[in-house]
Amino acid sequence: MRSPNLFTGPCPICGQSDFENMDVLWPKLVTAWQLDSDEEAYINRQQGFHCRSCMNNLRSMSLAAAILYSQDYIGTLEAFSQQKSTLSLLEINRAGQLTATLSQLGAHKLIEFPEFDMMKLDVESESYDIVIHSDTLEHIADPNVALSECHRVTANNGICIFTVPIVVDRLSQQCSISNPSYHGQRDIEASDQLVHTEFGADVWKYALQAGFRSCEVFCLEYPAALSLICRK
Ligand SMILES: [Zn+2]
Repeated sequence: MRSPNLFTGPCPICGQSDFENMDVLWPKLVTAWQLDSDEEAYINRQQGFHCRSCMNNLRSMSLAAAILYSQDYIGTLEAFSQQKSTLSLLEINRAGQLTATLSQLGAHKLIEFPEFDMMKLDVESESYDIVIHSDTLEHIADPNVALSECHRVTANNGICIFTVPIVVDRLSQQCSISNPSYHGQRDIEASDQLVHTEFGADVWKYALQAGFRSCEVFCLEYPAALSLICRK
């Protein structure tokens, strides 16, 4: 059941309200993922609805809004990043188009695959107030190990905030090797775009299994724009 309350802005990153829809799923992926028409529509909106000003899509807007919500901040991510000179944030793989904005924070570090393996992070323990990643976890062979690493590098009382594509009416499942599914771009079956886990309604379990004290589902728009806020 989709929410009648579609997100209409303003954009949590830049504050503008000039949006555009673009369908991004392709038939082979829809078939491999076994999405029905409603699920296809909301995943398309999650990945394709975007701000024409800062070019962030609904998924990134959800992550940005979750960061602001977790810090009790009223305003845009741009203003937040310019003001928070002491906050440290680790970005694991580029979170959509958020990197330039987040780099204005006092201590922002971007680490990327393949230099950094999310299951064995070369990062000091308890070193970041906020750890974020966006649509990365589904590509990791063992998401439990990856989230345990996120937990390890998050400061005590810090938070890890992330997005994954969630099909809300089913449970998470490991993808079969015999029927591989690739996100990313149509007709490009890059190994780092191979999907290992299709996440569903029990996505919260992964965060708690990794050691986080709580896992809150932040909703910018249901069910197209959900983020997980995990507290250490
Ligand atoms: Zn924007």
